Amino acid sequence: MMKAASHIIMLGDIPVEVTRKKMKTLRLGVYPPDGRVRMSVPLKVSDETVRRVATERLAWIERQREKFAAVPPPAAVNFVDGEVHAFLGKPCRLLVRERNRAARVDACCEPAITITVRPGSTREQREAALLDWYRDRLSELIPPLIDRWRAVMNVSVDEWRIRRMKTRWGSCNIAARRVWFSLELARKPEPCLEYIVVHELTHLLERGHGARFKALMDGFLPDWRERRKLLNAAVNAG
Ligand SMILES: [Zn+2]
Repeated sequence: MMKAASHIIMLGDIPVEVTRKKMKTLRLGVYPPDGRVRMSVPLKVSDETVRRVATERLAWIERQREKFAAVPPPAAVNFVDGEVHAFLGKPCRLLVRERNRAARVDACCEPAITITVRPGSTREQREAALLDWYRDRLSELIPPLIDRWRAVMNVSVDEWRIRRMKTRWGSCNIAARRVWFSLELARKPEPCLEYIVVHELTHLLERGHGARFKALMDGFLPDWRERRKLLNAAVNAG
């Protein structure tokens, strides 16, 4: 049977692009700007072996990805008035209002993102105001999703948080029944947010990403694979 030249395997929440080539040894790399993981493997090596090798190198992969995450966004992104940023997968114009008072974030007036900062604000202050705005929006969007899905799955969630985590979309502490969501999800289409909520809550039923996890996901959210693709493909504007 012919195998596709290149395909994606998931290492936890990290997509790994696997390409089979006429070669003798397996090569693994993590690439800028966003820490994309690629593996070139000999034709005869099975996905199972690829997964095993990648899993053995997971700590290294995560370290490399953290390095890319630590690199600030391109200098062209200055969080200035009129700049386009993503919100729920759609381009949204940033309106920066200057007021002589503490920076705060105004209510959303679609389709713009309005932030208010002191005159002479720095790029970092404007970025922080935008991230606050994202956080507020996610704080409105996530609770109804958790409520809905914990009822469907019959699981309890003791705590949830939004965090800046650039190399992962979410995480689940099973013992503490605590789920974390990446602030970056605010930039992604809404179906992706629901996918991550369902994914992390499913970990309360199944720790790993094996067959049982996938079967549960198939039952809860039959199109989760498409949503995952959308999540990892969507342009990360801003
Ligand atoms: Zn997971």
